[in-house]
Amino acid sequence: MKLYRSQDQGWLVQSSDGFQPLLSPWLELGASEPMLGPVVDEPIRFLAPVEPTKIVCVGLNFAQHAAEQGKAVPDEPVIFMKPTTSLLHPLWGILLPDQSSEVHHEGELAVVVGRRLTRASAEEAQAAIFGYTCANDVTARDIQRRDKRYTRAKGFDTFCPVGPAVALARDFAPADHTLEVRVNEEVRQRSRLDDFIFPIPQVISFISHVMTLLPGDLVLTGTPAGVGSIVPGDRVEVEIDGIGVLRSPVC
Ligand code: MG
Repeated sequence: MKLYRSQDQGWLVQSSDGFQPLLSPWLELGASEPMLGPVVDEPIRFLAPVEPTKIVCVGLNFAQHAAEQGKAVPDEPVIFMKPTTSLLHPLWGILLPDQSSEVHHEGELAVVVGRRLTRASAEEAQAAIFGYTCANDVTARDIQRRDKRYTRAKGFDTFCPVGPAVALARDFAPADHTLEVRVNEEVRQRSRLDDFIFPIPQVISFISHVMTLLPGDLVLTGTPAGVGSIVPGDRVEVEIDGIGVLRSPVC
C-alpha cells in the first residue's frame, strides 16, 4: 500500500479504483486495514507525503560514493541535518541559489519514522519504521568544499524534494529494490538498495542515541555513486521501484 498527501484531500491511499481519502490515522496503518472515503474525482495537488519535525541524513553510506568524493569509508555513521524548510513537494522546482555555481543531485532512499524513538536498539528501530519514500539530498558542492560543513551547502530552501508516496514498511524491503536517478532522461545514478555501509536499523538506532526521533521524521539513508550537476531547465527524477518517481524541475 502506498500513502500520498494532497493539498485539498489530506492523506490519500492509491487503490485500483483511484485515490481515496484516508479516514483512519496513518500511524495505525501498520496494525489495521485503513478506513477509506470515496474515490476522489477532482484534480489532486500532491504534497510531500510527510511533515517531519526534522530531516536527518547520513553521509557516505555507499563505498563507491565515498570513493568518488575522495573520502575514506567512515568507522561510524556521519550524520547531518537539513532544515525542514528545505522540504520540496513533488513537481515543485528546485531553486538554484546565486551563491553556488555547482549544485548536485543526490537521490536517496528516505525512511519515514513511525513512532517516537529514544536510545533504541536496532531491533526497536526496525520495528518503528513506518515506510519509505524517495528523496533528493540536493547539495551545493562548491560550497560544501569551501565550508567543509554541510549546513549551508545542503540547507537551501527547496534542497530536499521528497515523495511522491510512502510505501509502507510491511510491503517494502529496501534490499529488494533499486534506486535510479535520471536527469533529462539520462541515467546518472543506479543502485540496488542492499549495499549500505551502515544498515538502516543501525543508522536509526545510532541517530536515536543522539536525538529523539518523532513520528513523521525523515532519515535520508545516503547516496549511491553517480552524483552530478543540475542546471536551470533540467528535469530530475528519483525513482525507486515500489515507491514511484519523484520529479523536480530545476529553476
Ligand atoms: Mg546525501
